[in-house]
Amino acid sequence: MISFSRIAAPFLTTSKPSPGCITVDVGALARNWRAANEASGTATASAVVKADGYGLGIGPVVEALHSAGCRHFFVALADEAAALGQAARDADVYVLNGPMSGHASAIAAAGFIPVLNDLLQVSQWVAQAKKADRPLPAAIMIDTGMNRLGLNLTDVQSLAADTASLALLDIKLVMSHLACADDPSSDMNARQKTFFDEARSLLPDAPASLANSAGLFLGTDYHYDLTRPGVCLYGASPFKTAPAPFEPVVSVAAEIIQVRDVAADESIGYGATFTATGPMRTATIAAGYADGIFRTAGNSAFAVVNGTRVPYVGRVSMDLIVLDISALDARSVRPGAMVDLIGPGVSVDDLAHASGTIGYEVLTS
Ligand SMILES: *Cc1c(COP(=O)(O)O)cnc(C)c1O
Repeated sequence: MISFSRIAAPFLTTSKPSPGCITVDVGALARNWRAANEASGTATASAVVKADGYGLGIGPVVEALHSAGCRHFFVALADEAAALGQAARDADVYVLNGPMSGHASAIAAAGFIPVLNDLLQVSQWVAQAKKADRPLPAAIMIDTGMNRLGLNLTDVQSLAADTASLALLDIKLVMSHLACADDPSSDMNARQKTFFDEARSLLPDAPASLANSAGLFLGTDYHYDLTRPGVCLYGASPFKTAPAPFEPVVSVAAEIIQVRDVAADESIGYGATFTATGPMRTATIAAGYADGIFRTAGNSAFAVVNGTRVPYVGRVSMDLIVLDISALDARSVRPGAMVDLIGPGVSVDDLAHASGTIGYEVLTS
């Protein structure tokens, strides 16, 4: 386990995490990658570690995944690739956004593999290869219906005809991205797969990759050579409704600052959005939307204290949340005690649903 608090407090000499604490279970992360690799069948699992390892800290995340056996990593930006450090030495590091704004020479020098997302990026990378006087490794992204990034069919056809450019590309991977894999019943999945097969048949033979976390569970047809799980590694669910397929990785705890009695008809928090229907007992905790607990969680989410669910009452403030602890033994909850905002009994996805968002956003916040 590694543990760190959001706020560095060098003037405090306490060993107690204060006032909040995010714990990342790197052992669970490693086990989740092995489970994803297993679920990939004959394909190999990579790991998507963009956005600072889905908010958990790219350094320790990559170290854990690398020791679990992962040798293919996807980041969004060249700077993130540089943060992989030692782990990058014997791994393939793909840069999803491609050679953006003058990063081509740095990417080439480091041996990272840019994902080329349109003909402009192809020509930039080919120019880099000309400079280097050798073919450079690249992945080709095909847009199969998301209209976000990737070569469309016309682009693929012109690249396929451009033998001069192809001679300067060492194509490590041909890939695409699924728009609706979180919903296995969506016919978009099969349409994208068919389009992917058509488009990649025009290009030189190369390993292929289509599945994100949810795509892992669409069947072996979707696995190809390399799968690209992200969110499932970090213990959240990639699905619209089904729970997370693997172990939880993250817990978030915050400290109780104050416990108080609230009389019937009193209101709680900004906007007086909650009114006590009877006498109640509340705990005010040191966490809020500045810590990534969404304001939309107010009057909706729950925390866990000593194994009991305690609802958020009133709005989430910048640095404070009020919990209804009436159900708990008054003596068991005191200032200084920690409550779980994410942990056993309250998952990343529970908090996401209560906040009107998805586990991905909770993790990266
Ligand atoms: C983010 C991303 C992934 C991982 O998606 P998850 O749903 O988190 O598994 C895979 N491929 C691409 C291209 C991505 O951008």
